[in-house]
Amino acid sequence: MLTPREFGLSTRHYRVRGQQLAEAMPDRCPNGHPLGTDTVLIGNHPCVACTGTGHRTWRCRECDACWIWPACASRPQWPEWPGDEGVVSAP
Ligand SMILES: [Zn+2]
Ligand SMILES: [Zn+2]
Repeated sequence: MLTPREFGLSTRHYRVRGQQLAEAMPDRCPNGHPLGTDTVLIGNHPCVACTGTGHRTWRCRECDACWIWPACASRPQWPEWPGDEGVVSAP
């Protein structure tokens, strides 16, 4: 079975469904609001300073709090999403 690790990616931020690579996403905002398809704005924060490409962002529509991953040096107020612990694949 394929794992995100085989793509060189974090197993806490990606998961593989069938032959497709899917991104994991937080199920709660930094303030604890539930995040679902209607309540989260998934975005990309372009940045050449730290990653050279950009950061994934998840913004809560309820309170406007924003997760970011990986952490961004120019957005220290946005907490880094540590990833989905449930994704860690069993051996
Ligand atoms: Zn919120
Ligand atoms: Zn950055």
